[in-house]
Amino acid sequence: MSKIIATRAIRGAHKIMERAKGELARAQESGGRDMAVSFPDTNYYLPFAYAMLGIKASRVGDLIEIMDYAKSILPKIPDEKVWLPYLGPTLDAGMATLFAEEIIEVLKYAGGDSPTRDYWVGFTTDAILREQGIKLVDGRMPGFAAIVGAAPTTEEAVRIVRELQERRILVFMSAATDGKCIADQLNEAGVQMGWDTFLVPHGRDISSTVYALNFASRAAMTFGGITPKGMKEARDILLYNKNRVHAFVLALGEVDDEKHANAAGAINFGFPAIADTDIDQILPTGVCRYEHVVSPVPREKMVDRAIEVRGLKVTVEKIDIPVPYGPAFEGERVRKPQTGCEIGGKYSKAFELLRLKKADEVENGKVEVIGPELDKVPDGGASAYAMIIDVAGRKMQPDFESVLERRFHTFLSEAMGIMHTGQRDMVWIRVSKEARSSGLLFKHFGVIIHSKLLREFPSIVDKVQARIYTKEEDVLKLLPEAQKVFAERDTRLAGLTDESVDTFYSCKLCQSYAPKHVCIISPEKLGLCGAYNWLDGKAASEINPQGGNEPVAKGECMDITKGQWRGINEYMYSKSEKSVEALNLYSIIDAPSTSCGCFECIIALIPEANGFMIVNRGYSAMTPCGMKFTVLAGSVGGGSQTPGFMGIGRLYVTSKKFISAEGGLKRVVWMTKELKDALADGIRTRARELGEPDLLDKIADETITTDAQELAAYLAKVKHPALTMPPLM
Ligand code: SF4
Ligand code: ZN
Repeated sequence: MSKIIATRAIRGAHKIMERAKGELARAQESGGRDMAVSFPDTNYYLPFAYAMLGIKASRVGDLIEIMDYAKSILPKIPDEKVWLPYLGPTLDAGMATLFAEEIIEVLKYAGGDSPTRDYWVGFTTDAILREQGIKLVDGRMPGFAAIVGAAPTTEEAVRIVRELQERRILVFMSAATDGKCIADQLNEAGVQMGWDTFLVPHGRDISSTVYALNFASRAAMTFGGITPKGMKEARDILLYNKNRVHAFVLALGEVDDEKHANAAGAINFGFPAIADTDIDQILPTGVCRYEHVVSPVPREKMVDRAIEVRGLKVTVEKIDIPVPYGPAFEGERVRKPQTGCEIGGKYSKAFELLRLKKADEVENGKVEVIGPELDKVPDGGASAYAMIIDVAGRKMQPDFESVLERRFHTFLSEAMGIMHTGQRDMVWIRVSKEARSSGLLFKHFGVIIHSKLLREFPSIVDKVQARIYTKEEDVLKLLPEAQKVFAERDTRLAGLTDESVDTFYSCKLCQSYAPKHVCIISPEKLGLCGAYNWLDGKAASEINPQGGNEPVAKGECMDITKGQWRGINEYMYSKSEKSVEALNLYSIIDAPSTSCGCFECIIALIPEANGFMIVNRGYSAMTPCGMKFTVLAGSVGGGSQTPGFMGIGRLYVTSKKFISAEGGLKRVVWMTKELKDALADGIRTRARELGEPDLLDKIADETITTDAQELAAYLAKVKHPALTMPPLM
């Protein structure tokens, strides 16, 4: 253990503590101990302090309590002559630093000096945390990097983040070197920042580094289902991060005392620090899995070294195309002025189709472009487009066509400069000017699909060939045949019911974060994240029998109304760490499904209305059950069964099996406007089948009321069917 690191980290902690003390004194003077303080849209107070101390801070007085604790663990600045053989004081200094920084940042929100000016995002809301969490869960993001400081040049800054993006690593950016943060450099270079591109600029202030760690603390509480109370839980939260959240710190430029103090804070979470300048190293392992602080590392090796030190397994995908490729580019938008070519949408006729063929009909790797290539389309113009992909494979089934075809969206979007939306004959694609000038062609679309299908579906796909038509007359000629295929598929899918199959599929992908959670996916109930239906589960289990999806035989039926089967119960018991003994697939009151953290919507009981409300993620205002989405999410998640509350995928709402044990759709008394609009057709169809043709209009939304009493009055006025149904409680 190095003496210098300890001294510098402890000295840095003292400086940050002094600052926090000053800010806190000012806040107390202006607003008193009772002045309210909070981060926006979170159910976790000051998340780091809540995680470590269980303090539910909401007023200045609570901050004082946190500060007192921080003071009590802050070590004295060591005498330069004394050799410290252990990490303890440095780690304590790191903790004190994080408490102090969280106080500094939350007071910024209270003082109106918002940390979210320009491109800075400041605090991460719970809604975003959950949305991004699923990417950590399903492996789209193997971990995160907290970059503090700036690179010597803008070019180097861009190169470092591109390296991280290509490795799918989420990047948090904070603090400055000579007044500049790496985010400032990315902004100068015109790099698109935000959650969609995995590049999150927290702030130029050193104290904004705490946002990376309060994100990590909440990950453990949200997905690990740990509720902070005291020391045991605090320890669990830190260990959860060490074992499950693969994060590290990249320190760019001079590492001053304050940065040392933050690195010490991160080490408590098991996150090592890698620096490009010469600072003292902490090599032996202990708190972190391998080394703690490694320096000096040449900048071009930093990302690889960090990955190695954190013990991360990441592969870079190399596809032979002229633009960078990876999930970090999936959410990137191509705006109109940057658009080199429009395809589909309202601009041209376009569709994409995948067909199962016999092995001798497919020439693997063949890509044909019939018609003008992308570089022949006038700048900003449109092109017709029909991409027909032929696939052969011994274990490939017709049912998997749609599963594979649906992935085109992700496959193509992940190329930098391609924005792909929709599917089938509803596709709309934009190719950026930049991608075109890098040499991107239609043939590369085929190259991408070929290599991704073979890579992601190796056990069902043996051969892939692509044909891309870009002449309008060809596309028009081929379209009716494709539409016939789409219609046939839809008919086949509509015929699939829970009764018509004897096997459901499980999904345990979220167990890396919520160890007790299992989704049971039936033809009429999809996974609660909305991303996996029964066919997806079936395909995934064939593709990778050892993966997160397994076939589950229903076995003997125990209760047909509630949807309970012996086989499902036994499976749930053995895969939920013995926490779920029985599961009623169609009930929300009696032994309902468990919820992890990534539900698209939450259904909640409203006792006054004898019914349920449904709120979707992204709706941040109040709901009639008296809780906002984030608060509800906090009480539903973590992998437990919570009678009266349940996370669901939005398409489940229009299923015949939607909480049918409690009476189904007729029980829904309130939904967000957004959800009503999105599901309107499906709800009307179901409502007619249920003999309640006007149901959609009887379901209230936020434009009618968000108050339970008013809701009850409204329901009485419109004669909502829930009022005459058997009492729920
Ligand atoms: Fe998680 Fe369920 Fe979605 Fe699987 S289906 S990823 S377990 S929410
Ligand atoms: Zn989940």
